[in-house]
Amino acid sequence: ADTYRAWFCSWAPFPDPPAWLKRCDGRVEWTLPLDGSGRFDQDIPKMADLSKRLGLDFVRLGGQMIPSVAAGKHRCNRFPFPDPLMGSEREFTEVLDQVRRQGCRVAFYINGQAWDPRWPACPTSCAGMMPASVKIPDWEAGFKQNALHRYDGTLYSQYRKAAGHWPAPEPDSPYGCLFYFMCMASQGWQDHLFYWTVEKYVKQYHAGAMFLDQLGAESAKYCYNPAHGHTHHGAWSQGVVALAKRIKEEARRIDPDFALETEGYGDAYASSFDSFFIAPSSTGVWSDSFPELARYTFPEHIFFDGYWSIQNPAYKRTPEEMFNEVFLIGNRFLVYAQPNVLTKHLSDVINLRKRIKHVQYAARYMDDVGVSVSDAKVRVKRFVLDEPDQKVTLLTIHNHEGVVGANVEVVLDALGPVREAAVAVIAEHVNGLDVNESVTHASFAAPKGTLSAVLLVHRGKDVIRLAREATQIPPLNGKETFQ
Ligand SMILES: [Zn+2]
Repeated sequence: ADTYRAWFCSWAPFPDPPAWLKRCDGRVEWTLPLDGSGRFDQDIPKMADLSKRLGLDFVRLGGQMIPSVAAGKHRCNRFPFPDPLMGSEREFTEVLDQVRRQGCRVAFYINGQAWDPRWPACPTSCAGMMPASVKIPDWEAGFKQNALHRYDGTLYSQYRKAAGHWPAPEPDSPYGCLFYFMCMASQGWQDHLFYWTVEKYVKQYHAGAMFLDQLGAESAKYCYNPAHGHTHHGAWSQGVVALAKRIKEEARRIDPDFALETEGYGDAYASSFDSFFIAPSSTGVWSDSFPELARYTFPEHIFFDGYWSIQNPAYKRTPEEMFNEVFLIGNRFLVYAQPNVLTKHLSDVINLRKRIKHVQYAARYMDDVGVSVSDAKVRVKRFVLDEPDQKVTLLTIHNHEGVVGANVEVVLDALGPVREAAVAVIAEHVNGLDVNESVTHASFAAPKGTLSAVLLVHRGKDVIRLAREATQIPPLNGKETFQ
């Protein structure tokens, strides 16, 4: 990882997420009602209120889009016009202005790579409800030229039969699938996503951030359409990067704090996107997903991880165990607004994060390098903040079984002796900590609490004071309802 990071940093531009995103502890996730019963002016403020209640001030929503002929109303619908059954474009803008005035940013979902070829055919429920100025791509009139093309000229289809919550395509459909994958390096598809992201959602509706689905989670695909102008057939990722750069550059002329996110993670995308949606990685659902490795290699990349309800989940962790993992390695909490997620434990974990965020988000995540524990049941992760006027070692600790007296030993390296130390245990206050020191190491007894954090200050003022005085949210009491 060290060698790879050194090579990567020798050529990759540094990420430039807005300051609010760097300080952000997490966000509320929700899908607006898919049965046509939703209202923008009620459902969006409700989720903004919940995010404020959790001290997060950030929401990402799906389900706001108009249905498509192929799949009906669905979270992942491919046409981003705000569903006219839930409110007008003007109401949509007004409600986003209203929640922004209350300090909450709202991001919206748009699919980044797939398209329903039945457009411009519109479902009868929304017929005539879109203004004439809205550009609806016409597949047969030429939009299909922007699709990914194989060497033999065929297209890449998605969902040729029913899958999970996706219906089968109509039996008499000339397409034989619900969607086609588009070429990320084609001008027409880039222009389409740019129009919806920048011209509509940012400029007209005042969305504070946007999410392009699937791009970082997708394998690159070849495209052999010479009319697209890409210099060779392997330009998929280059197309993603060019599009993301163009969106961010133009969106930030309108809103200098605009942020762009995609699903999955690609290190080469990290200077083009501001953050990555990797949920539900920390539930243990994917045996080949190692969020701690990405955190170690690229501590400056921002990941949102949490308990995300997907089809047929084989989650190995409960929501509470999953949030412990997200806390431990310092990723941002993705809070899907369901009762099994919105527990007192969640609010306690968020509060514990708020005590250490001033160190953690600026520090380098070292995983368990430089730290050893006398009892393997106690897991400890190390973060190092090494700046000229501030040198701090932060340890996040997961003591699942409440082991008493486990000894944690940490290397001091060039950080120097510990001048001040404190411990924050979940659902408790910040307290002083007894630390034993040698020339090379510091050691202390791991707290018995399930989750805790230790701050060892080698240099710098106010590190412990800021932890003590950190803003805390009132604990959730299990009786509150948000839906
Ligand atoms: Zn192409």
